[in-house]
Parts: sequence; structure tokens; C-alpha cells
Amino acid sequence: MTDEPMTNEPVTNEPMTDAPLTDPAVQVGGAQEIAPDLLVIPNHRVALVPNIGIIGGTEAVLVVETGIGNTNAEQVLAFASEVAKGRRMYLTTTHFHPEHAFGAQVFAGQATYLVNRAQADDLKTKGPGYLEMFRGFGGSIARRLDGVKVPTPDVTYDDGYDLDLGGRTVRLRPTGRGHTKGDQVVEVPDAGVLFTGDLAETGQFAIFPWFPPYDTDVSGVRWLEVMDRLAATGPRVVVPGHGDLGGPEVLAGVRDYLRELREETWRRRDSAMGEAKIVAEVRALLIERHPEWVGQEWIERGVGCLCTEHPA
Ligand SMILES: [Zn+2]
Repeated sequence: MTDEPMTNEPVTNEPMTDAPLTDPAVQVGGAQEIAPDLLVIPNHRVALVPNIGIIGGTEAVLVVETGIGNTNAEQVLAFASEVAKGRRMYLTTTHFHPEHAFGAQVFAGQATYLVNRAQADDLKTKGPGYLEMFRGFGGSIARRLDGVKVPTPDVTYDDGYDLDLGGRTVRLRPTGRGHTKGDQVVEVPDAGVLFTGDLAETGQFAIFPWFPPYDTDVSGVRWLEVMDRLAATGPRVVVPGHGDLGGPEVLAGVRDYLRELREETWRRRDSAMGEAKIVAEVRALLIERHPEWVGQEWIERGVGCLCTEHPA
């Protein structure tokens, strides 16, 4: 870290102007067994690398997330195949965003790719635009998206899916709109483990993919409702979409932040303050309250989203 003062980036409608320059490489060598036959490949806090899960039963293995692009996915598949030792393989993704799902084509013929219907719809309707947008970031991100096609799931379910891996049943549950329209969480009840996807991140401000007019699906209000429900389930271990693993306090932390973001935004909106001023004030306030968090660029997107959700 340097002593350089923080600069305030200008408010802009360009998607993700702070796109990271670090190559978003999944490091399968760092896999950790967090419960019997349940591995997590941690993202080591590298942006655009998700936490990836490999959950085993006696008959089958479920992989959660692919990493961005085919090379990452090939490494995840090779590692998962080693773990599976001939067991049948499944793949699921928590939502359609490129670092979570845009490697799934590599699993074709090797694993059954299973997702909730709303996520399948997101892949179909939003996937091509996101592929284009992420390629536009250039550098290592564009290279990793070389040859990538928006994936098509093999199996789509509606209300929930209990996947029997043999002696272990994993619960796939759509949460309803939150971080995206098609978010899904993955619960491993016998181990008390919950994979949240980007409904929860640690060490950073919550990711609001609020890119009007292209994508306005994220809902701060509904996301908060989802976090209230998830927090009530009391998991032992929470695997966030990005950042360090933790316990139930991870869910409470995100919920509290979303509440704080909503309250601070709406209080100013109540007094008819303009959006630019709200962004500036809320941004300064939240950075002061969470100085150690990265991803400050997501605050203004969160404020923008919540301004439109203000009950005027
Ligand atoms: Zn995401």
C-alpha cells in the first residue's frame, strides 16, 4: 500500500471503469477441504475470480462456478475430475456473470450443467451483452474470453432442486431477484455450508451491477429481503462469491451494509437531494465507515439503484 491520497473517481455511466488489471486466474492448487469431501478453491481476493466449490457424495460430485473463460474452466474440470475419481459430475453456477459461468462449455459431455430457470433466462438474454462488455475490458480479461460461448444449461429447474450425490443431498435454491434476476444459492445441509454467489462478498462493498440502460435487474430492496431470509437459515460456513470464507456473520454483515446503504440513500432522497450529491455524501460516509473494503466504485451504483427504488 502507498500513502497516496484516495481520489474520487468521477461518476460515469461506463460499465466498470475500475476493471482490474490483475489476470483473473483460478488457482486450483489452493483448494481447501472445509468439510469432508467438500473443497473450496478460494479466490485469494483476486477480482473477477470467484470462490469455487467441489462437493462430493458417494456417487457424484457437484462443481459450483467455472471461473472466467475456458482455460480457467479446464483447470477446474481437471482438478474436479481428479477429486471425482470416476464419480458422475454435475456443474452449477450461482448466477450468469462471466467469472461464475463463462467457462461452462468446457464441461459439456463431462458434467451435467444444472441451473434455475431465471438464471438460464439471464444467460440467454443478458449473456451475449456481458460477453461483449467484458471483452471490451481488453487485456487478460479479453484473452480469457477468447473462444468463449455463452453456455446453455443441460437441465433447468423451477422452484428448487435437491441433488442427490449419494449419501449427501445438495439443495439448489433460487432466491428471487437480488444481485441479478436469476441468483441461486447452494446449500450442503449435512455440512452446514452455504454458497451464496455474489449475494455476499467479503472485504468489499457489495457488487451492484447497475448499468442503466443496459442492465437494471439488481434490486437493493429485494437483495436485502433475500439476505434477511438467508441469515435466518444460520449456516455454519458461508462461502461468498468473492472474498474470505466465514460464518453466519458474513450474511449479517452484507445485510447490515445493504440496510445502511438504503437508509443513507433514502434519507437524502426524502429531502429531495439530487442524485449526484447523494452519491458524493453516501460514498464519503461509507468509505469512512468501511475504510478497509475494496470495490468503492460499487457504492455509487448501489446508490443509483436505490434512488430508483425510493418509495416516493
Ligand atoms: Zn456477479
